[in-house]
Amino acid sequence: MPGKHARLAASAAARWMECAGSVEAAAGKDRPTIYAAQGTFAHHIAAECLSHGEAGRGQARHGVARQETNSKPEDWLGIRTILESHEVSCDAEMVTAVQLYLDEVRGQHQAGDQTWVEMPLLEALQQVDPDMGGTADHVRYRPAAKLLRVTDFKYGAGKFVEATGNRQLRIYALGALLAVGKPVHTVEVCVVQPRIEYAEPVRVWSFSAAELLDFIADLRETAERTRQADAPLVPGAWCNDTFCPAARDCPALTAKQHQLMAARFGELAEYDPAALAEALKSVAAVKAKIKALEAFAYAEASRGIVIPGFKLVDKRPTRRWRSTGDVIEWAQEHAIDPYAPRELLSPAQLEKVVAESAPRGKKAEAKTVLAPFIESVSSGTALVPDGDDRAPTDRQVTADSFEAIPAANPLNF
Ligand code: SF4
Repeated sequence: MPGKHARLAASAAARWMECAGSVEAAAGKDRPTIYAAQGTFAHHIAAECLSHGEAGRGQARHGVARQETNSKPEDWLGIRTILESHEVSCDAEMVTAVQLYLDEVRGQHQAGDQTWVEMPLLEALQQVDPDMGGTADHVRYRPAAKLLRVTDFKYGAGKFVEATGNRQLRIYALGALLAVGKPVHTVEVCVVQPRIEYAEPVRVWSFSAAELLDFIADLRETAERTRQADAPLVPGAWCNDTFCPAARDCPALTAKQHQLMAARFGELAEYDPAALAEALKSVAAVKAKIKALEAFAYAEASRGIVIPGFKLVDKRPTRRWRSTGDVIEWAQEHAIDPYAPRELLSPAQLEKVVAESAPRGKKAEAKTVLAPFIESVSSGTALVPDGDDRAPTDRQVTADSFEAIPAANPLNF
């Protein structure tokens, strides 16, 4: 979750550690989107469920009044609220995502563990730098193993969040280490991102606590750079990945966009592969500008501003049953089967069922029973930056990679 009161929020670390000028450039421009508001609500529900019965009940969290009875995600189904100027509601997808996060956190529990829900890290991180802050979704300290585990719930479905090398989580781990104030040997940072369908929803990065000491020096140096009057604006993938609020009018990003528009590549002309690499690197950054422009135009149109050549319309409606009970009754009267055929659950869905029936602390282990039945098959190749942690493919694209195109048959009308 974002550290809302800190100038250098851990949640934006991937941005300010790369683009020191972004802190000033983005100041005052953050306009929470509906997606951010949905994420805040999902975090609220998760925190309420985890801390149900703990001290502090009755106080508002995330600006939502606390509920006395809603201790399970399904208790929240259909509840609506206004968050960050958006109306949000808890639907079945949110219930499932929050439950997966709760299963992961609770499934890790062992006797003797100390845990914190939404641990504020402002004070601890200010020991590193006075501008730094954040809130860790869940922190676990296991004295017997001198283990510190920080779990971050990501409700977003648009951007895959890696655990390994994640600077936001490393900052949370550092803050938690300082806040807990106990001896730590091993740190585990864990991302739970249930709504990315193509990836395992739980990803863990484990490292030695000593590595955090080196990180402090990096952090202090980078934080200092953000305070310099001439802090540079450095466009890159982080402009888009972190939804930089300055993207719409950032001059450095505009310059990148112009360079990209001017670049020309084609099979028939000679080109420099290094220039192609540079252009590819710019694409992710420039996407941030395009998305920011679209979001701004949408917000303007929503408040009644007329944008020539554009209009606000209702999204295409989808048909649904007015009353499922009535339609089932009608189908039975007419001897029609109204149900879809049964389908086998996906590996992730069946793992969830298996984990749900396993005892606490054995959920991750229980899922391994399905491993012999599962294979991972890639649907093709993708061009990604060198820094991506996947190994280069050994597939070569040849003429055989393409389906044969039948020869034209003049008699086949
Ligand atoms: S849009 Fe990119 S280059 Fe501009 S301030 Fe944000 S992160 Fe920096």
